[in-house]
Amino acid sequence: MSLERVRDILAEADRHGTAVLAFDAMNYAMIAAAVQGAAAAKRPVIVMLYPEMAGYVSLEGFVSLVKEQARQVSIPVGIHLDHCSNFEYIVSALRAGFPSVMADGSLLPLEENIAFTASVVRTAKAFGADVEGELGHVGKAANERDYISSELYTQAEEARIFAEATGVTALAVAFGSAHGNYTRPPKLNITRLREINEAVKTPLVLHGGSGIPKEQLIDTFRNGINKFNVGTEFSYLNQKYTGQYFEQARERDGACGHVEYAREKLSAYIMEKCRLTSCTFDS
Ligand SMILES: [Zn+2]
Repeated sequence: MSLERVRDILAEADRHGTAVLAFDAMNYAMIAAAVQGAAAAKRPVIVMLYPEMAGYVSLEGFVSLVKEQARQVSIPVGIHLDHCSNFEYIVSALRAGFPSVMADGSLLPLEENIAFTASVVRTAKAFGADVEGELGHVGKAANERDYISSELYTQAEEARIFAEATGVTALAVAFGSAHGNYTRPPKLNITRLREINEAVKTPLVLHGGSGIPKEQLIDTFRNGINKFNVGTEFSYLNQKYTGQYFEQARERDGACGHVEYAREKLSAYIMEKCRLTSCTFDS
């Protein structure tokens, strides 16, 4: 199957009334695990690069690594640039071959967010690329106010205006989640999500997925979330397993044993995580 357009992967998830999982990855072990773990679960997957991680892998290198992994499996695989509010950087990602990017103008007032996102959509069109926008603000989990303050949540009517004015392929919305590790489990506002989903045809995206209780996640997939981003949890597991190898398995598998150990453990995690969704793929 190899590489597919993110818009097609999301449309398929939408048809199934579920979400596709998207993971931030920055090295070979994480990218291979994301693709191979999803393939083992027979689920589509989107592999994302978080711009802050681009110091560890180049834009072109990232695209090549994901493509190489995608060629070896039969599930749909998407490539996406996660949170970016820098227009020039987004253009370099498009030039490097990213078929999907996020234009994050969520900290801007509505009109400016629309103008910024619409300009990215126009540019991305020339590359045949997809664009995810964000409205409302998904903040930081370390700051409890960021996910319990409903004034930061996306308003359904504004979401409709934003989606129509920008022409985004996907829309990240805020209804009680936050990035990073939560100080205590969040309580997502499913009613708000339902209202947004009724007002907007565009596939919706849930950010800040690390640490949301399973039942709540499944509820969001049933109520309009078609893409579910996981960053923090996956990243910390990468560190944990690499460390674990040196504690437990030192000298066992030669100089690169830790890479293989992390890839194997992370693949098992991804397979399990992907099974949260009901979007199976059999070829
Ligand atoms: Zn995010």
